[in-house]
Amino acid sequence: MPSIDALADRLSTYLGGEQVNLVRRAYFYAEQAHDGQRRRSGEAYVTHPLAVANILADMHMDHQSLMAAMLHDVIEDTGIAKEALTAQFGETVAELVDGVSKLTQMNFETKAEAQAENFQKMAMAMARDIRVILVKLADRLHNMRTLEVLAGEKRRRIAKETLEIYAPIANRLGMHSMRVEFEELGFKAMHPMRSERIRQAVKRARGNRKEIVNKIEESLTHCLNREGMEGEVVGREKHLYGIYQKMRGKRRAFNEIMDVYAFRIIVDKVDTCYRVLGAVHNLYKPLPGRFKDYIAIPKANGYQSLHTTLFGMHGVPIEIQIRTREMEEMANNGIAAHWLYKSNEEDQPKGTHARARQWVKGVLEMQQRAGNSLEFIESVKIDLFPDEVYVFTPKGRIMEMPKGSTAVDFAYAVHTDVGNSCIACRINRRLAPLSEPLQSGATVEIVTAPGARPNPAWLNFVVTGKARTHIRHALKLQRRSESISLGERLLNKVLTGLNSHLDKVPADQVQGVLAEYRLEVIEDLLEDIGLGNRMAYVVARRLLASESEQLPSAEGPLAIRGTEGLVLSYAKCCTPIPGDPIVGHLSAGKGMVVHLESCKNISDIRQNPEKCIQLSWAKDVVGEFNVELRIELEHQRGLIALLASSVNAADGNIEKISMDERDGRISVVQLVVSVHDRVHLARVIKKLRALKGVVHISRVRA
Ligand code: MN
Repeated sequence: MPSIDALADRLSTYLGGEQVNLVRRAYFYAEQAHDGQRRRSGEAYVTHPLAVANILADMHMDHQSLMAAMLHDVIEDTGIAKEALTAQFGETVAELVDGVSKLTQMNFETKAEAQAENFQKMAMAMARDIRVILVKLADRLHNMRTLEVLAGEKRRRIAKETLEIYAPIANRLGMHSMRVEFEELGFKAMHPMRSERIRQAVKRARGNRKEIVNKIEESLTHCLNREGMEGEVVGREKHLYGIYQKMRGKRRAFNEIMDVYAFRIIVDKVDTCYRVLGAVHNLYKPLPGRFKDYIAIPKANGYQSLHTTLFGMHGVPIEIQIRTREMEEMANNGIAAHWLYKSNEEDQPKGTHARARQWVKGVLEMQQRAGNSLEFIESVKIDLFPDEVYVFTPKGRIMEMPKGSTAVDFAYAVHTDVGNSCIACRINRRLAPLSEPLQSGATVEIVTAPGARPNPAWLNFVVTGKARTHIRHALKLQRRSESISLGERLLNKVLTGLNSHLDKVPADQVQGVLAEYRLEVIEDLLEDIGLGNRMAYVVARRLLASESEQLPSAEGPLAIRGTEGLVLSYAKCCTPIPGDPIVGHLSAGKGMVVHLESCKNISDIRQNPEKCIQLSWAKDVVGEFNVELRIELEHQRGLIALLASSVNAADGNIEKISMDERDGRISVVQLVVSVHDRVHLARVIKKLRALKGVVHISRVRA
């Protein structure tokens, strides 16, 4: 039976006498406040806060955290006010107790939304004083250890909450030991049968593996001795919930998971870690691509270690972690090691502390951006799992990104404006595709241009919630404004043909039509027209309904300027360029697609005024337009270089090139070139014709 005296004895090993007395006082205060209350197990209630304080004492937490642990249920369960605690124990302790109480009031329901909100509260509390979370985690740990006394449904609810919220938080704060205990207890309470079955299977496997484990351990120890290095070799076993998750998530068989042998080598200092690594790589062959140096680049939760996988005797895979004793403590206790190592080793725990704060800050920012809680928890869920890459900004700032992130994700992580105006990137100083997944250690530089816009194709490869949200948002805005302006032009074109103009249509007439279509504002109507959901022709007739029933007279074609944006695209089948006779095909939701007048794909509907619209090119049309050329020429060396330099000399750009050999003498080259207009194309073709050996050039049209 733990007592306050026993705890006080333990505390005096690392706290001053004055501080130990304050903890005692808090205990007696709680004992009196909870007087008469009992736990479900029948024990006096005060045994619970005492146990929580003991857990925190294991982590060498400071006296204020321990006092808060003693008092953590006082406000909630006894009706004593926060002010009374402030008067008795000071502002800081009262604040801590108040913070823990607020988290306790979290109303967890199975609904994902409620879960998200709880999570947000937790993050807020952490931002104020991380000790609130540590006390809360200890509180939850003791409740999990004594979970059996609760009824089935309540037990499952608490277990689920522990697995979904508390275990990831412990993980995020680097508190491995606590996370594992949460998961094992939570798993057992949620799935008693599965947990038991895996436990039995592990027990059986342990017997079979014993011989091999001993052999490997011996040979590793022997190897260290031979090299004259001090190190402790320990065998590791995966915990039950970890095995269960692997079986479910990666769909691996139990035997497959158990076939891996895992060891940890704990040494005195960093230098030895690398020497041990060298030694074990000499002993067994390392598996390529599996070595990870988390010492040079620690994980986001502060974890440091070397990881490698070896082929042991008979090809048995052996996973090895090599780390110092301090790193081992960090790996087990994470942020709590901040208190454990307060006196010596200042740097490392501070780094962890800073990282945890950074994470909390990130969570809060994300929460402000995401409109609703569900969207928020989705983003957070991704971020809670530590599959990360670490990349650097050109100025050397380290950025932590989820695995698979691309330069576009990076750009949005740096700043929304950087993402929105990003046009290219350099990875390790060389130009690279924006879609390339980033590797840890890379330096990433984003090239931006004023007025640049997000590309819809980015949505196919970005992985972060932030990038996705912002790209969608920017595209939505852009598409709407472009649709509105195209819609307005389409509508005015028809109205002009009817001797009118949108400005001349009486306001009440416009309102009438909007009401009829159940639209709010004129922009909605114009957007619909621009997107091809409504025919300008029909809308114009409605707007002028009272005035006349006449058909549009000989209206001029609509001029294309090349700046219409997302609502206007150029048909891939016939690739029109300025100067070509064109028509527009309106397709619902997609806006307008520009075809050649002669394109076979639209020959059926060309005369239908509801589907096709006459177009012309504006005089000042801008942009680059792709055309495909087919060139027959005599085979010669360096042919592609010749073609490229000719196109280049005419200011054209080659977008794509492919070549077929027709017979030994003649080659056929398919060339996609981007040009400004027909005149420009003529210039390109002229240059190409001038090449020696060119037999025939034609423009390819479907
Ligand atoms: Mn409690």
